[in-house]
Amino acid sequence: MQLSSRATSLTPSLTLSVDSKAKAMKAEGIDVCSFGAGEPDFDTPEHIKAAAIASLEAGFTKYTPSSGIPELRQAIAEKLLTDNHLEYKPSQIILSCGAKHSCYNAILATCQPGDEVIIPAPYWLSYPEMVRLAGAEPVFVSTSEENGWKITAEEFENAMTPRTKMIILNSPGNPTGVVYSRDELEALGAVAVEEEILILSDEIYEKLVYDETQHHSIASLGTDFYNLTITVNGFSKSYAMTGWRLGYLAAPEPIAKAVDSIQSHVTSNPCSFAQKGGLAALKGDQQPVADMRDEFNLRREYMIERLSKMPNVSFVRPSGAFYILVNIHKLGLNSQNFADRLLSKASVAVVPGIAFGDDRTVRLSYATSLDIIKKGLDRFEEFCRTL
Ligand SMILES: *Cc1c(COP(=O)(O)O)cnc(C)c1O
Repeated sequence: MQLSSRATSLTPSLTLSVDSKAKAMKAEGIDVCSFGAGEPDFDTPEHIKAAAIASLEAGFTKYTPSSGIPELRQAIAEKLLTDNHLEYKPSQIILSCGAKHSCYNAILATCQPGDEVIIPAPYWLSYPEMVRLAGAEPVFVSTSEENGWKITAEEFENAMTPRTKMIILNSPGNPTGVVYSRDELEALGAVAVEEEILILSDEIYEKLVYDETQHHSIASLGTDFYNLTITVNGFSKSYAMTGWRLGYLAAPEPIAKAVDSIQSHVTSNPCSFAQKGGLAALKGDQQPVADMRDEFNLRREYMIERLSKMPNVSFVRPSGAFYILVNIHKLGLNSQNFADRLLSKASVAVVPGIAFGDDRTVRLSYATSLDIIKKGLDRFEEFCRTL
């Protein structure tokens, strides 16, 4: 039996493989400190769970419109206006089974064989595979630690060819934790507008920004930007709802229609009662969001303080999301070897940067308790000393 080339060309998710190795060690009774998490360690806020349970009990258990229930699309339109200065009609908003699904739908609806998609590296590891599944080609632009792991307008321009169809931006970013400023987004947007390149803006970490950092939605910075941008967001990271599988995109009408049409044949609507939970998330008390953010910030500050005192490692101070990308290049191991040895010798799990297109780094997530962070960083420091 021959599998499709589409299937066989995929690379398995390294973040999941590190996680499963760490879980297997834990199951054997080994005390593993994991910095591998890609999701908040908090439970979903009570009022959100209650709304979903109530809807289940009321029999809200049937298909909904493929693009999502009207009241949630309306609530998202209001959220995008108040939080992001973005004017979208509900008809431009399509709910999907997670922001990941929204990204894939967006790429499928716009990219095809012969198209190139620019992806700044280090990148979130699913983007290249989504592009390949659509038959298009990822074009990686390596960013540097000196530039704060951000692609510059000039680098974007240099990577462009007549086949360039889209650029993928992710701010606040996974795995870097960096947040693009308004000026930086304006400069990148100007390049996109000049050549009519689509912008896929993954804003899933928008609520997790720290210090004085502000999140800006690139589509809000001008009509010509808006017309080329697909804004992706969701509930997983802001509301600790990863298992609910609920995300959305907002786009110019023809793109939204195409996405709806694709989705209607592949998955239909995202889970009905998850949508009721999403509605409660947006309409209800936002204090839990702020509380989780504050807790993440305490951990972030602790990590920054500890890591900045360690010799031979460096990092860009993250101002968003819940990751720190640590450059371990000077320690003389590639990222996979470093991560493997760190796990087997010191029982600390990190994700090798090679998974994100950068072999000089490892990603440490602080979506775990401060106790584990403290113990894990003690071991990390000790391990680095032995290299
Ligand atoms: C977690 C994550 C997502 C996926 O979010 P879901 O809504 O759970 O699918 C999308 N983009 C990035 C960069 C992420 O880290």
